[in-house]
Amino acid sequence: MPLSGAHGDRVDGRTPDKPGFPNVLTVDVEEYFHPNAMDAAVDPARWDALPSRVEHNTHRVLDLLSEHDVRATFFVLGWVAERLPRLVVEIARLGHEIACHGYAHRLVYRLGPERFRDDVARGKRILEDCIGLRVAGFRAASCSIIDTTLWALDILIEEGFEYDSSIFPVRHDIYGIPGFHRFAVRLRRAAGEIVEIPLSTVHLLGRNWPVAGGGYLRIFPYWITRLSVQRLNRREHAPAIVYVHPWELDIDQPRLPAGAVSRFRHYTNLRRTEARLRRLLGEFTFAPIRDAIHCDDVPLERPTG
Ligand SMILES: [Zn+2]
Repeated sequence: MPLSGAHGDRVDGRTPDKPGFPNVLTVDVEEYFHPNAMDAAVDPARWDALPSRVEHNTHRVLDLLSEHDVRATFFVLGWVAERLPRLVVEIARLGHEIACHGYAHRLVYRLGPERFRDDVARGKRILEDCIGLRVAGFRAASCSIIDTTLWALDILIEEGFEYDSSIFPVRHDIYGIPGFHRFAVRLRRAAGEIVEIPLSTVHLLGRNWPVAGGGYLRIFPYWITRLSVQRLNRREHAPAIVYVHPWELDIDQPRLPAGAVSRFRHYTNLRRTEARLRRLLGEFTFAPIRDAIHCDDVPLERPTG
């Protein structure tokens, strides 16, 4: 049931505010020590020495999705797939879409073009070796495709990706392009074309507000998330792009010595994630990106000015 993903085209004749309207659920598969908020607290050279919790936590997400008969897109970190190839195979076997979260969870603007290409190609190759299928989608670590790293899109095109879901059209200290399109758009770049699937925002009081994923799902009261998804579906006829990390369900994860802001973003309301995700899955319809957004039908970006 593909939809254009952008500007309100009907899906299979369904009314968007009825349960059949497919939102998108994405899961970024990484360890609790991979978020860039933890970069100052944990040297990547120590990653292998830390207790691994991603397999158990991902299975909790998979069980939750099975309970609700929901399929999602899993952006898997290459570092994880290299160590746990059977987990990737299991995710795919359950009918979910496998997409790429890079290899080492480095911020795009810290890597630069050459190292970004190496990181992405390595992650993609590991995943494709696991599942024997081409991987079409990418999400950058901490959504770090920003206005100064749009060259990353050319590299993604050259490396064979069909879509990217890394741009957050908000103002934030780590990520975000505040004026970017809020819904799926086909971008024409020097290297070719790629579909960008921005993370969800609601536009209120003259600015975009991030909603329905990660810390925003955990920190805002649930009713804000529910109203936001309803608003996107009913008023803007667009799917919400919800994202969650397996570590967000893990109340007992080891606490890392990060700064106060990072600790707030990472640890607040971990105990509420599972219940909130369960409510979302019960109240809305979800699909993986490959089924909910038909990349061939996404409209080309119109020139501005
Ligand atoms: Zn990540």
